[in-house]
Amino acid sequence: MDFSLTDEQLHVQETARDFTNNEVIARANENARTHTFDLELAQMIADQGYLGAIVPTEYGGAGLDYVTYGLVVQEVGRGDSAMRTVISVQTSLVCSSILKFGTEEQKHKYLPKLCSGEWFGCFGLTEPDTGSDAANQRTKATKVDGGWKINGSKIVHLDGQPLEGRDDLRPDRRRARLQGPRRVSRRHRPARLRRHRDQGKMGLHASDTAAIALDDVFCADEDVLGPIGKGFSVAMSSLDSGRYSVASGCVGICQGALDASVEYSKERIQWGKPIASFQLVQSMLAEMKLRTDAARLLTFRAGWMKDQGQPTRWRPRSPSSTPARPRNGSPTRRSRSTAARATSTTTPSNGCCATCA
Ligand SMILES: Cc1cc2nc3c(=O)[nH]c(=O)nc-3n(C[C@H](O)[C@H](O)[C@H](O)COP(=O)(O)OP(=O)(O)OC[C@H]3O[C@@H](n4cnc5c(N)ncnc54)[C@H](O)[C@@H]3O)c2cc1C
Repeated sequence: MDFSLTDEQLHVQETARDFTNNEVIARANENARTHTFDLELAQMIADQGYLGAIVPTEYGGAGLDYVTYGLVVQEVGRGDSAMRTVISVQTSLVCSSILKFGTEEQKHKYLPKLCSGEWFGCFGLTEPDTGSDAANQRTKATKVDGGWKINGSKIVHLDGQPLEGRDDLRPDRRRARLQGPRRVSRRHRPARLRRHRDQGKMGLHASDTAAIALDDVFCADEDVLGPIGKGFSVAMSSLDSGRYSVASGCVGICQGALDASVEYSKERIQWGKPIASFQLVQSMLAEMKLRTDAARLLTFRAGWMKDQGQPTRWRPRSPSSTPARPRNGSPTRRSRSTAARATSTTTPSNGCCATCA
């Protein structure tokens, strides 16, 4: 088993680390305090090639593998989880869905502009009455001549904030949007697509979270993503990709918290000594390091599995594939209990919720 990173991966990691230290961390506190979605920084992130990092170069992406993409997300997440969401949504939810389910025409139409940051995409699954139970969507797409009319409402969308009224963002009309339930991609039409900023978040204040009302929004046939009637599968597949990115971002948060804790423990003096010299504090830091490393290794394994094209959803091993060893009882009894355990821990095939399944 080889746990080392390649030279290219180390180089990308170092570049992302420098970028985070110099640009992301420098703005994080102020953006969080003022609840500012920093579009200038989002554009700098795009210029680094991080939006659409896993998109092949022929569509304007950086063509990175998943492990390397995870390294980038870890670094940006270490500096500011709010800005990390821009990468996760754009790359994992939006670009990867178009890459996987889009027609060649859709890929050429949307991906280059999403990768360059000219357009920002969002993923619209959650509704006012539908969160974890994502299959229970109320938003409807009705067939009309040449396309579909969509009616309904969506909430808590990262990167879906209203941008009208800001002179610098007028070109927003060209931004790509992804909406459920049929996972439809379309261009923004301000007259029928009303958006307002979601309020009341406990964190991620510098990220852009919006509610969207769709009132007879027209989507042309050629903009529908994936087969008609298969929108739920497309959405679940997008979430699979998103979870890897969110996990990588969380590893970054752990690392950031560990770094800050170590630094503080060396600066803070109590009873004439830095608190880092106290055994209890050392034990807490060691525990943080241990858990951060464990999370990082699990996430790397998920990235490696994605790179190998392996399914990343856990499936219990079939009892017949693990021959029971006779120990303290008959083999038959042991294999029965193994089967019972396996059955009782099986996850629902459609995942448990939009954020954690
Ligand atoms: C910062 C942020 C960004 C987001 N961005 C997006 C986005 O870009 N696009 C998008 O579509 N959505 C987005 N979401 C929405 C997110 O996916 C939903 O919040 C999530 O699906 C949960 O839905 P809910 O909030 O309605 O909670 P509910 O589903 O109403 O759940 C409420 C509570 O009940 C619990 N619960 C639910 N089901 C069960 C069960 N079967 N057993 C036991 N407990 C259960 C939950 O754990 C939770 O504690 C975002 C959310 C946040 C916080």
